[in-house]
Amino acid sequence: MPAVPPKPAAEPLDPLRWGPTFPEAARGTLDDAQLRTNLRRATRTIRDKRLAVTAELPDWEALRDAGAAIKADAMDRLPELLEQLEANVTAHGGTVHWARDAAEANRIVTGLVRAAGAREVVKVKSMATQEIGLNEHLEAEGITAHETDLAELIVQLAGDRPSHILVPAIHRNRDEIRDVFRSQMPGVPDRLTNEPAALAMAAREHLRALFLRADVAISGANLAIAETGTVAVVESEGNGRMCLTLPRTLVTVMGIEKVLPTFRDLEVFLQLLPRSSTGERMNPYTTTWTGVTPGDGPQEFHLVLLDNGRTRALADDVGRQALHCIRCSACLNVCPVYERTGGHAYGSVYPGPIGAILTPQLLGLDDADAATASLPFASTLCGACYDACPVKIDIPTALVHLRDRALHDGGPRRPTAAGAAMGAAAVVLSSGRRFRWALRGAALAGRLLGGRRVRRLPWPGSLWTASRDLPALPARSFRGAWAARVARVSRATRDTPAAPDGRDPRSGERSPGTDGRGRP
Ligand code: SF4
Repeated sequence: MPAVPPKPAAEPLDPLRWGPTFPEAARGTLDDAQLRTNLRRATRTIRDKRLAVTAELPDWEALRDAGAAIKADAMDRLPELLEQLEANVTAHGGTVHWARDAAEANRIVTGLVRAAGAREVVKVKSMATQEIGLNEHLEAEGITAHETDLAELIVQLAGDRPSHILVPAIHRNRDEIRDVFRSQMPGVPDRLTNEPAALAMAAREHLRALFLRADVAISGANLAIAETGTVAVVESEGNGRMCLTLPRTLVTVMGIEKVLPTFRDLEVFLQLLPRSSTGERMNPYTTTWTGVTPGDGPQEFHLVLLDNGRTRALADDVGRQALHCIRCSACLNVCPVYERTGGHAYGSVYPGPIGAILTPQLLGLDDADAATASLPFASTLCGACYDACPVKIDIPTALVHLRDRALHDGGPRRPTAAGAAMGAAAVVLSSGRRFRWALRGAALAGRLLGGRRVRRLPWPGSLWTASRDLPALPARSFRGAWAARVARVSRATRDTPAAPDGRDPRSGERSPGTDGRGRP
């Protein structure tokens, strides 16, 4: 049997945040050319599809505004809406459980699986269960969890960690997936090719047997409606639909921020989500259920409402926007940092721009030395994530806000390289004279270097070049170039009579400091 390509991410102690700081982890993944190629191809394909289908809708911006407004309203009324949701789920024969943290949620789910007499469960993609490390917990309790979403299945069989919110196996190409199937999926022939159809058929055969024998399914929830007690899952393969309808018992683990006020709100999110995530006009499978229906579908339904740091995030007026996220992954697909480092560098089930603002808030920013505090710095602040987000989460503003909190929350901190570099920049930028001297120094250095890029500077410049290249310095600053131009034009206008409209008779350009009629 062929070997599974290596590079599974390390097994985390806490799925919300594991491993070294972002810059340390990114250094490792940046060396992996294959990983970067896989990521570039995949994110660009999804990105182009998203742009094409969002451009089709004349009211796309109005939809984004509506999504943002509904989410903001839901967060403002969260306790009231959750109680309404609980009442309506219960009224329709379901049971609601409240979990403060991962340990409590894992305990509740394990108890429910045991009560159903099951030793194995099927799962439909759920970030909430990844966040709490449910699979690992169940395994420790002697219960086997089978992922049924194709990408999740690949990640599980490879002993890997997800690298993307929506396409967890985005970092693997078709050859690698074929090798994972051949070596890890029981009954798969050695002659299996890397054709998508062949891979899908192999997975289908493997999963069909699991669906038919499972008594318990565990799912996530994309949305839940307080007004009716309805829960919704959207997916592309139909494997989720099998999980949600075949087993006798259905357990859904849902972050408390997924609640929406009214059924009507669904129309907004069922347009925003598929176009932003997979670039499709509609989700191939949208399953909604309200409690239980005798003789149809699961006969027992449990909804576990998970906090796990969400009320902590809600308390932050700027950062709470992260709770508006509908997990479409559009921000990951446009992020230049994510495209180069991949999801594992973020060391969390929530990678990319949304992970950089969500994870630190779920876990807290109290310890600036913790790897979590490095996440808000994992961005160039280019703003592409804000432009792409279907619910207009202002990620750049939240990043800056969380950077400030990471540096200042909890009193004085041990000096860091970034802090020292920023302190030096503040000294220079707060004085016009110092800034001019710095510009002259930079221009002199630029002339000495002759336009060459600088990779390593001595201290204190090394604080900068340790994590970034220094771009080639121009031989003249903008201010210097502008002053020289003004002097040149003034000389020319002094020597040559000006045209009636104030333009230089030779260059045709208007003299600086004059209006269209040649007046100052
Ligand atoms: S932050 Fe916005 S773009 Fe990113 S995953 Fe969430 S909803 Fe999608």
